[in-house]
This record gives sequence, structure tokens and C-alpha cells, in this order.
Amino acid sequence: MRRGRFAPTPSGKMHLGNARTALIAWLHMRSLNGEFILRMEDIDTERSRQKWAELALLDLRWLGLDWDEGPDIGGRYAPYTQSERLDRYEEGLLKLEAAGALYPCYCSRADILSAASAPHGLPSEGPAYAGTCRHLTAAERAAKALHKTPSLRFALPEGREVRFEDGIAGSQYFAAGSGGDFVVRRADGLHSYQLSVVMDDADMKITDVLRGYDLLDSTPRQILLYEALGFQAPEFLHVPLLNGPDGKRLAKRHGGIAISAFRERGTTPERLVGWLAHVSGLIDRPEAVSATELIHSFDLSSIPREPVVVDVPDL
Ligand code: GLU
Repeated sequence: MRRGRFAPTPSGKMHLGNARTALIAWLHMRSLNGEFILRMEDIDTERSRQKWAELALLDLRWLGLDWDEGPDIGGRYAPYTQSERLDRYEEGLLKLEAAGALYPCYCSRADILSAASAPHGLPSEGPAYAGTCRHLTAAERAAKALHKTPSLRFALPEGREVRFEDGIAGSQYFAAGSGGDFVVRRADGLHSYQLSVVMDDADMKITDVLRGYDLLDSTPRQILLYEALGFQAPEFLHVPLLNGPDGKRLAKRHGGIAISAFRERGTTPERLVGWLAHVSGLIDRPEAVSATELIHSFDLSSIPREPVVVDVPDL
């Protein structure tokens, strides 16, 4: 059984960009008669709010999407909320530690910037970590530990390049060491996105990870985590983003993009779904349509391979 998911971070109102990813992920699974799972990625407690999590569920239902397992309805692999899964992330860390794939890092942000190795990290993550703390001796670690609580980094396997076939973006290649060794638990105890998403997708038996293109360059890191944890990696599919008229990724500053704002002013979900489907190459004209009506004709290959520039619709 194929299993897909949508995994919003409740750090604000769901908007056209997130809703489009959710719609495509849902259509992809429903067109394959697969199961669709909703997961709340509230691991970053500073940014996440319960009210946004509740609104996301309301917005998705209003759009006509449904899920077989999720934070509100439970399921075989409950809980589906990251803040309730911290024990699992600790178990993951223990496994990585046993595999010799973790080390404590005492670097400050300033240390990291000044030692940043060449030339860049991953576009989404800033400079690559130079590996400063990777080869500290036990005595050096003990001395540093007197003054600072470390973060934990995943040590990229030496010389290991990553190749994978993305279901939308095509063949991908990342050179060995791309992005540098990355943090899996911050000094303040917060588990990283990379670790939590891999533990979640593996535990929830997800077979198809369909998400926004901005996470394409996180994928090699996640593939290496799957390997180190002894899990099988899923298929990955990255949807090109929606950009505003200024060519930048559609975001709050473009104004009027919250799904709840459309609902509050009386837009029907069918009109909004029609617009989302149209800008995603799924229908020729932005006519009103329900999400369910799109299932039978859904075709991944009609999704544009480049970012789509849109005006905020007046619906
Ligand atoms: N929580 C992430 C977001 O809202 C998505 C993570 C993922 O799909 O892997 O951008």
C-alpha cells in the first residue's frame, strides 16, 4: 500500500503555496488508491502555535481534502504530532550514536561562520560546517564540556556521494560532504527537522514524500540518515514552488494569500481548488472544481518543472 503525507509546520496561517502542495500530495495518493497521512510538524516550539495547527486542519478540510490518519483522528502510528514524539527522536539519536555517526559540537554561531569551509553549504542552510569538532580528542571534548552544552552533529560518511531519482525533479546528484556535518539536536535540546522528519516518515511507513522544492537539498541528508538508522528511504517528489509577481517564493508579504482569508470573504473551496489546479498544470482553465473531481485525471507529468509565477488571485 502506497502511503503519502502532508506535514505542515503550524507557524502561521496556511496559504496558497502550502495548500497547493497539500492538494498535489493528496491527489497523488488518492489517484494511486493510497493512504494519506496528516502530520503536524510542531517540533520547533518557538515558532509553532496550537491555533495555527487547528486552523490548518480546518483549511484542509474546507478545501475538500481528507486523511486516513492524523493528529485529530489518530491511527496505527499515532501520535501524529511531533511534539508528542520526542522519545522516538531520542531513540533515533541512540541508534546513530551506536553506529558511531554522531559527535558533540561546541562551536558557536560565530565559530561556524568564521571556519566555514568552501565554497557553500546547501542553498537552504547557509555555510557548510567545516567539521571543527569532528576530530576532537576525548580530553578536548571533556575540557569544552565544562563550559558549554554541545549540539549533536551527524557525521557525513566519508567520500559518500548521494544520487537519487526525484519523481518530479528528475536525477539528482550531491557530491560527498555536501552541506557538511549537520545538527540533529541543538544545544537547547531541540531535535532538528532532518532527524524528526526521517524518524516520522520511517515510523509512519510513508512510501512517497511529496513536498515543496525548497526541501530538495535536505533530501541527501535525509537519505544518509535513513541509511545510518537502518531504514529504507521512501520515494521523493519535489514540486516547484509558486512565486509571486516579484519572482520570489509566495509568502505572507505578498498579502491576501491565507486560505482562511478566502474562506472568510465567501470564496468557495471549488474556486480556490480550481485556481490551485490550474497553476499546477492540472486543468486548462481556472474553473471551479472539487478536489475529488480532480482525482481521476491527475497526472504528475503535467506539473510544471519550473517555479510558477502567479498573481494573488482575486476570487
Ligand atoms: N514541515 C515542513 C514545512 O511545512 C515540510 C516538511 C516535509 O514535508 O518534509 O515546510
